[in-house]
Amino acid sequence: MEKKKIYKEVTSTCSCGATFKTMSTDNIHVEVCSECHPFYTGTQTRASKAGRIEKFNQKYGFKE
Ligand SMILES: [Zn+2]
Repeated sequence: MEKKKIYKEVTSTCSCGATFKTMSTDNIHVEVCSECHPFYTGTQTRASKAGRIEKFNQKYGFKE
């Protein structure tokens, strides 16, 4: 008899330390996520991402 997979809401952890809720059969660990993947961030690190936003804010005169 085939074991039925039960999907539940689990907290998956990424290599970058970010955690997020997802639906899976078990807790999962991912190498990249939307927080750290270059495809999403356009940069290699969170630090440079923050720097880029800072420059963006300065360029357009946004204040925190
Ligand atoms: Zn990540």
